[in-house]
Amino acid sequence: MSAIHYEPVIGLETHVQLQTRSKMFCSCSAAYAGAEPNTHVCPVCLAMPGVLPVMNRQAVEYALLTGLALNCQVQEASKFDRKNYPYPDLLKGYQISQYALPFSTNGWMTVDVDGTTTRVGITRAHLEEDTAKLIHRTEDGAPRSLIDANRSGVPLLEIVSEPDIRSAAEARAYLQKLRLIVQTLGVSTGNMEEGAMRCDVNVSVRPAGSETLGTKVEVKNLNSARSVQRAIEYEIERQRRALEKGDRVLQETRGWDDDRGTTVSQRSKEEAHDYRYFPEPDLPPVFVSAEWLADLQARLPELPDQRRERYMKDLELNRYDAVQLTSSLSVSRFFEEAVRLYPNPKTLANWIQSELFRLLHERDAEIEDLAMGPADLVQLLKLEAEGTISRATAKQVLEEMARSGKAPEAIVRERELLQISDAGELERAAADAISANPQAVADYQAGKQQALGFLTGQVMRATRGKANPALVNEILERHLQEG
Ligand code: ADP
Ligand code: ZN
Ligand code: MG
Repeated sequence: MSAIHYEPVIGLETHVQLQTRSKMFCSCSAAYAGAEPNTHVCPVCLAMPGVLPVMNRQAVEYALLTGLALNCQVQEASKFDRKNYPYPDLLKGYQISQYALPFSTNGWMTVDVDGTTTRVGITRAHLEEDTAKLIHRTEDGAPRSLIDANRSGVPLLEIVSEPDIRSAAEARAYLQKLRLIVQTLGVSTGNMEEGAMRCDVNVSVRPAGSETLGTKVEVKNLNSARSVQRAIEYEIERQRRALEKGDRVLQETRGWDDDRGTTVSQRSKEEAHDYRYFPEPDLPPVFVSAEWLADLQARLPELPDQRRERYMKDLELNRYDAVQLTSSLSVSRFFEEAVRLYPNPKTLANWIQSELFRLLHERDAEIEDLAMGPADLVQLLKLEAEGTISRATAKQVLEEMARSGKAPEAIVRERELLQISDAGELERAAADAISANPQAVADYQAGKQQALGFLTGQVMRATRGKANPALVNEILERHLQEG
């Protein structure tokens, strides 16, 4: 019996916390991070009887801007609904959300994975309010559950994708792109670790080539791009094994256990009718006029895809470079400032992607964490271009700049790294290399060009990378030809 190949199908539901000044339906400050519990509260977000919600215009505009950036159709008329469910962190016993008529529908976003660009459909983007936060702890040996309502009523934008994603890596790239878009719009920090972006993943598998969708499992509350990727990988494997054994996949909600690296069953799936959605009677519908929409459209900043296209067209970068350099806001800011000071985009692109990205990777850091800025990189490249230092030296200096933030000239001076272009000194080093490596010389005489590269390498090593390689090459060639 030949094994069936299973194809994963994935859809993401992402909650993005909008960084408005006040909450969604009251004037409490939404900037609650680090505040004492229950200090950003009022009768509205504490769900006292008889209070009335008032819509936050900024939150609505942020939601609409995001919808436009995700290529959605913005509805002329939208409304809010009540989603009813009992839970201690939901103080009103219902959440104000959008069910039947969300602001935005039918959009798409591009996602880049390993040099391939795919399109992921966006089903809808709707506005809702966040819940309070439960804090579980032990006091005097007894378990206590406490409620902090600071987060209660903070605006959330829920963005639902179509089941268009086909791998864990693609899901991760989708999240990173979504984060980049909301950061570019300035509507959210998009910071997953701080809970400003939260994600539920829906995963199913089906026999490759099948047109129908398999039964999906929803994994809740993943708080890093890495756990999203791991949870999906785990689920794909778990479901594939179940089907191979002849079992069925149960439609259910599971939680992610980051320590054990597994998903755990939480409950069977609830249905929409379980929430008894009905129109929110205390809020008017929202009408988006053509003028308002045109105004919002005009306020959209340059989005990541447009920036990538501009790098390709105006800066003549290839697609790979353009994708890399637009993959984070801080990297593109760094790059653009460097290009402004030193209009050699390709050289800068190479240095940033090879040397800087390697340093960032080693330190698990972001470009803004480095002690050096774009002007420092430009100074370094100028020293190399003038021939003051060799390329090998420039790489060493860069490492030190990233660590200490010292200016490249100062490092070169202190560590005596000036490039050796002094012919006498290089002549001696070349003669030494030739007499120490008779085999390489014989190879060269026999027509092996690589032998010259080897000898150049020997001279570079002997001078600790400070020799001017072009000059070394010239001198070696002359010596070898003279025999
Ligand atoms: P529900 O009724 O359970 O809320 P929806 O149809 O609203 O399901 O979809 C919720 C999310 O699950 C969406 O992101 C959607 O793309 C995704 N999804 C739907 N069906 C599947 C499936 N069979 N496999 C994987 N993801 C799915
Ligand atoms: Zn309030
Ligand atoms: Mg749904």
